Amino acid sequence: MREISHSTTKPEFLPVLGFVFSIAFWFLDSIVDVLVFEEEATFIDSMFSPEPIEQWMRMMVILLMFLFSIYAKKMLIIQREIEDELRQHKEQLEMTVNDRTAELSNTNQQLKDEIENRKLSEIELERLATTDPLTSLTNRRKFEECFIRENEREKRYSAGLSLIFCDVDRFKKINDTYGHEVGDRVLKKVAQVLQNGIRVNDTAARWGGEEFVLLVSNSTAESGRALAESLRQKIFEAEGMPIDTISASFGVTNVHEDDVLDTVIKRADEALYLAKDNGRNRVEVKWKE
Ligand code: GH3
Ligand code: MG
Ligand code: MG
Repeated sequence: MREISHSTTKPEFLPVLGFVFSIAFWFLDSIVDVLVFEEEATFIDSMFSPEPIEQWMRMMVILLMFLFSIYAKKMLIIQREIEDELRQHKEQLEMTVNDRTAELSNTNQQLKDEIENRKLSEIELERLATTDPLTSLTNRRKFEECFIRENEREKRYSAGLSLIFCDVDRFKKINDTYGHEVGDRVLKKVAQVLQNGIRVNDTAARWGGEEFVLLVSNSTAESGRALAESLRQKIFEAEGMPIDTISASFGVTNVHEDDVLDTVIKRADEALYLAKDNGRNRVEVKWKE
């Protein structure tokens, strides 16, 4: 915005200027009368007692000059007042703009914070909706989604997809003997062993109670059995387990192209019950060719 500044001439000074110009005019006109028009009178006569017509004309000019200086003074004062008013308006406007800018930036920051909080809440809600609260593993609902996605991929690439069921042995007895809280700690530890024992692309989920389910990609019957066997051993030998005698049984099966989740789970469950029947703390495989 252009800076509004006062003009430099002081209005009170204008009549004084008019007076000085009048004297200068009188003086110059006296010189001009004597030198240019070569009148007979001397400069002193022309200065102090000019001809009446001459005197009358000079007085008229001086009067006009005086009137003009009064008028100019008035105009200058009005200009000053307008400039002051404009300056005040400009300052007011700048203050309002600054206030509004601060308000807007404040509101903007609040909106950004709100969006950030909502994003975090959404992530947290998504986590809560897909995670088992006790073990922090994927929950059953999310596992079902993972199964559908991996099953689709398997239909395209046929790389081999295994499903492993894991059930803690005699868990009811652990609860009854040591209490529910110790039982919970056992479940957390088993979940941790399972999660740490698989690859990042595989999924470990809590199916319910003391039952866990694993979805393993790029897996044959042999590698599926080997993975289940290594997990069984890790659980059996796990350090930091609340009680020493924890074991789990495993049922392993593959995802066949004719399968849906229920049929795979049914086969894995049959393999698991075989493991229970055969003495627990062991792995059984039921493969569909
Ligand atoms: P098996 O070797 O045949 O699997 O016997 P089991 O005792 O493990 O199996 P059963 O189905 O008889 O008992 C499972 C127990 O798991 C019963 C239930 O009270 C307990 N349970 C289920 N969910 C939880 C849980 O979140 N925390 C605890 N502490 N116990 C649970
Ligand atoms: Mg069970
Ligand atoms: Mg059990």
